[in-house]
Amino acid sequence: MPDRQAVIDRKDLGALFTLLADEGYQTIGPKPYDGAIVYAPISSPEELPKGIGDEEEGGHYRLTQRGDAKLFGHTKPVQGLKAHLYPARQKLWSAEKAGHGFRVVKDAAPQPRYAFIGVRACELSAMLVQDRVFEGGPYVDKGYAERRKNCLIVLVTCDHAGNACFCASQGTGPDASEGYDLKLAEVVDGSRHVFVTEAGSDKGRAILSKLSKQDAADGDVKAAAANLEAAAKGQKRAMIAGVAELLAAKLESPHWEDVAKRCMSCGNCTMVCPTCFCSTMEDATDLSGLKAERTRKWDSCFSIDYSYIHGGPVRNTAGARYRQWMTHKLSHWVEQFGVSGCVGCGRCIIWCPVGIDITAEAKAILKGA
Ligand code: SF4
Ligand code: SF4
Repeated sequence: MPDRQAVIDRKDLGALFTLLADEGYQTIGPKPYDGAIVYAPISSPEELPKGIGDEEEGGHYRLTQRGDAKLFGHTKPVQGLKAHLYPARQKLWSAEKAGHGFRVVKDAAPQPRYAFIGVRACELSAMLVQDRVFEGGPYVDKGYAERRKNCLIVLVTCDHAGNACFCASQGTGPDASEGYDLKLAEVVDGSRHVFVTEAGSDKGRAILSKLSKQDAADGDVKAAAANLEAAAKGQKRAMIAGVAELLAAKLESPHWEDVAKRCMSCGNCTMVCPTCFCSTMEDATDLSGLKAERTRKWDSCFSIDYSYIHGGPVRNTAGARYRQWMTHKLSHWVEQFGVSGCVGCGRCIIWCPVGIDITAEAKAILKGA
């Protein structure tokens, strides 16, 4: 049974940040930066994007002024929380020369303790997908597992859909029923500005018990539910049903070459995707030859080198690379991890410089079929 909902007044939201800092968390939340909303370290609600919305389409993103005081009136930030839990560059180990060999030096730095504020349902779903990748099999990524175990998630529900969103058709949003510590729904009605709040874990319950709050009024709960309904019904895009089976049967579709005429193999879609996890290793020694370091870096299946094996790349056309990305994400991921690799956030559509739309390409393949 879900926890009873409370309301936290806007003026009391700062206490949440203070409490999290006192408990040793580094608070990460949405923040306007360089013409976009990004997840970044923030220390108070004053740094949230007050009154700022966003406008998105295929190959298009702009910030807008909403004309109200909402702090979470935007949709998802441009880059997901993947960048915090699975850093784009990460030193795995270093080594120092010792006699005729090398001694491995362990990195003793503790993993950060993040409190993620303003997490959307699609983002949380993406974290649950990456949990399967990094922790779900026999080889656990210890750094990821520790950062994930330490983190606290403050989910914020959406009050509208961005034009590229399609989480409703993927079953990954706009609401979430598990995986968060606290869930907030922002309600602004005239001068009333509150957060309908619910705990989803013992950690969340302990935090909520220390905050100033009141029982939620019926009107606030109804307004929060109406916002969520608007976010679900307002989605203009949807993924076709049965896409996993369709793509598995259409590996030789001529449509892959049609996409290849537009795709520049830039890899933007994989960099912004909150579930993509491909990486490469870089080994480097210093000029003296006494120290060496191994670094893991994000890579992309759109890079021709990514599929290079003995004698050349396996996927040497843009069509083959796009097919690899889309069929893995929407079809083979289900076989590999038991869930789709796409949470419907729409970032790959927005940040594709030529506006290639994964939902439209799936429909085109269905039409061809
Ligand atoms: S494939 Fe596109 S829409 Fe799906 S999760 Fe990745 S970025 Fe979001
Ligand atoms: S689909 Fe778009 S974003 Fe992805 S590699 Fe091709 S051009 Fe770049």
